[in-house]
Amino acid sequence: MHKTEWMAKWRQHLDDHELRMANPEAHRIICRANSGDMLAAGAIDQMEKLEMDELANAAYWHAVETLIDCEPGFLAWGFYDLVPRAGGPRIGKLNGSIYFPEGAAGQMAAQVLEEKGVRRLAFRINAEAWAMDGMTITKPDGSIYDLVITGQRINGKEYSNIEDPDAYRTLLDTAQVALENHDFETYRRARPLLLSAAFSRCTTCQDRFALREDCQACAGLGFVAKEGSRQNHHAQNDEEG
Ligand SMILES: [Zn+2]
Repeated sequence: MHKTEWMAKWRQHLDDHELRMANPEAHRIICRANSGDMLAAGAIDQMEKLEMDELANAAYWHAVETLIDCEPGFLAWGFYDLVPRAGGPRIGKLNGSIYFPEGAAGQMAAQVLEEKGVRRLAFRINAEAWAMDGMTITKPDGSIYDLVITGQRINGKEYSNIEDPDAYRTLLDTAQVALENHDFETYRRARPLLLSAAFSRCTTCQDRFALREDCQACAGLGFVAKEGSRQNHHAQNDEEG
């Protein structure tokens, strides 16, 4: 392959905004693999590779900073409870994209299918489909359910959600230091745990030390319980029960 073609291929991947925002880690890894291939093929020299990897790094840190205050969407590697929005116990669980109804002795009943960006929970037996919109599921009869994340499988290991404020504080501090130092390995490990935790950074004070202390929104914690999180559902159910 000619250098121009190599560069075009590398640039096309670097400019793939959708993948970068959906999976910044994969985007960065693929960018660096591409430049590695180019170096190995003699299309670029070491200096050029360094410059290109610097661009991929900058794109990564820009993406993850943008994503800090975003509600995470549906994660295909997450574990979820399906909880009625009107209150009450969960009706089933999603393990990744496989749905297990409550009390069905571990029998899968449906799977998440995605076509042209539209997701649905498609049932195995009766061809019923439940509409999925972000973390909301709507049955054909109009009843609404929330997907409440309980954990994730990351690199083959299962992680429970962080629901303890002290553990979240520690993770938030670790992530902040990694972000400031552009420490990819540490941040890569912290980010999915931050996403699925029962808390999120306070958007009012943004957990800035100087503002945090007097912040009314988070009572000085720097973070707040996520809406629709497991804790909120517990609180809701306790009130009703
Ligand atoms: Zn605050």
